[in-house]
Parts: sequence; structure tokens; C-alpha cells
Amino acid sequence: MEEILNAITLKSVDVGENDKMITFFTLEKGVITVGAKGVKKDKAKLKFSAEPFCFCTIKVAEKSGRLTLVNADCKKSYFMLSSDISAYLCGCLLSETVTFLNKEQPDGTLFKNLLKCYESFLKGVKKSVTVKFLLDALSNSGYGYDFSACLGCNGEITGNVYLSQDASCFLCSSCAQENDIKFAYSTYLRLNKINETDYFELSDDENDNNCLKLLAFSFKEKFNLTLKSVGMLLQF
Ligand SMILES: [Zn+2]
Repeated sequence: MEEILNAITLKSVDVGENDKMITFFTLEKGVITVGAKGVKKDKAKLKFSAEPFCFCTIKVAEKSGRLTLVNADCKKSYFMLSSDISAYLCGCLLSETVTFLNKEQPDGTLFKNLLKCYESFLKGVKKSVTVKFLLDALSNSGYGYDFSACLGCNGEITGNVYLSQDASCFLCSSCAQENDIKFAYSTYLRLNKINETDYFELSDDENDNNCLKLLAFSFKEKFNLTLKSVGMLLQF
């Protein structure tokens, strides 16, 4: 059976001399891995589809549970992001997140948001939209944060803010318990601001690194997932 899918290339790994396994985030099926014959060759017609951050339509054939790439048509390549180290690392971070959360789980909103992030990276806006994407990804997985009030007393959080020790919610100083984690109020305000701002309205800010650190902690606590690109990204 053959199918045509809207896809974004997340990563590819070499298989043998000429082939690759490509991981795509598809609009229709979520994250899938597809075998691609011959795409490692310099002159391969579908070589582009194995390059990260390529938005394309792909034709795949399924045989006993395995998917093979039959054809691909590039809609827009964002491969040039690879030459900007912080944009590249932001892209890798988003790929890691989607690969983990959306394995065979389609999410049309995240698919569109991923393309919005790439567009923003081209304009030089990187970490803020990355933070927003991570917040949206958590939210769409049922682990979203409520910024409107302290989850303990429903009161406004001012001045001192704590992340519950399981990273599930924010608490005020009266509701926080011994093992909850105090963090900078400026980080809380920044997360809140990013959460309520549209992708294309965002610009980067000095607090974005702290937001990324907090979210990396959150992914570790919630999913036991280490987002490997974060450590590197914080250096740029
Ligand atoms: Zn409270």
C-alpha cells in the first residue's frame, strides 16, 4: 500500500553504503521512520529528504509493517538552519521532543507550530519560540502548565514561585512544601509571557535560558527524558 504524507525531516541515520533510515514528523501519522534506498549517494534524486528540517510531501510504501520511501517532493527546505549553531540546536531540541512525544501520534497543531519555529529561526528568533513549542508540546500531551494561579490555593503567585517537586505545577510560597523547587520569579513571568504570545510576535530575551533549563527539568521529571540538545544550546 502506498500513501502520500506531509512530512518534516527530523533526522536520518546511515544504513550500509548508500541507504538511510529517515525519521519524519508527518501530519497524518505522527513520527515515523522510513527506509530510503540510495539517498546517501551524491546525486540521489531524493537526497534532500534526508536533510534535517526539510518540509516535504513523501510517498511511502508499506510492506509487513516496514515503510519505504518511494518519492518525495520538497515544499520548503530549512536545511540552511544547520549553518547557524543556535538555530540548529533549537531545531534538534524540537526534533528530540517530537520524536519522543509524537511517535505515531499525529498532532496537526504541533506540526504547524514546528514550521512556525523554523520560520522564526530564519528571522533570528530562536530560544523564545523553542520554549513556546515545548510548552505547547507539554500541553498537547496533557501535561500543560496553568499560569493563571497557584495550584494549591488558587491565589495569584507574586514574588516567590515554586515548581512542585514532580514538576507538575507552580505553587506560591504559602503552599510550597519542603521538596518543591524555588526558582526565579522572572523566569515564571517570562514563561507566562511566552505562553500567551503568538509565535510570530515573540523575540528572544535574557531569561530564555532559564526557561529552557526549567523545561528540561520538567521533561526529565515527567517523562524521564533527557533533552540532550539543551546543555549545548545553553552555551550559545
Ligand atoms: Zn498557594
